[in-house]
Amino acid sequence: MSTIFTKIINHEIPCYKVAEDENFLAFLDINPNARGHTLCIPKQEVDDVLDLDVDSYKALMLFSRKVAKSMKNVIECEKIAISIIGLEVPHVHVHLIPINEMRDANFSNKINLSKDDFSDTAKLISNSFSSI
Ligand code: AMP
Repeated sequence: MSTIFTKIINHEIPCYKVAEDENFLAFLDINPNARGHTLCIPKQEVDDVLDLDVDSYKALMLFSRKVAKSMKNVIECEKIAISIIGLEVPHVHVHLIPINEMRDANFSNKINLSKDDFSDTAKLISNSFSSI
């Protein structure tokens, strides 16, 4: 059975898309730690990041780096935290989280955003990604 992220890739369920290329997709986390919290995923359905072949691993990190820089350009924050957990969804994903203090990187610390907040934020990061 497909993962929920493969369903997003295949447009079977919606997402707030931030960036996409042939092999990777970035979209906003639906239950964010902070505004702009983004997930970067490979289109290849692999559970554990350590099972990606080395070239795919490097390419995912480079894609995530570009997305993180796009976020840093438009979201006011001290740093973009980069984290890989994967306990909930068995499809590799890199969390990119705008942080100002350590608690922003804590996955028990969630914020509420409206649909407009999500779509405005996705557009902002997406435009920044296109300009890099
Ligand atoms: P983890 O697998 O522990 O790294 O956590 C999975 C993350 O995926 C969580 O932060 C969820 O909020 C997020 N998530 C789950 N389903 C969706 C979805 N349909 N769209 C966006 N983010 C999701």
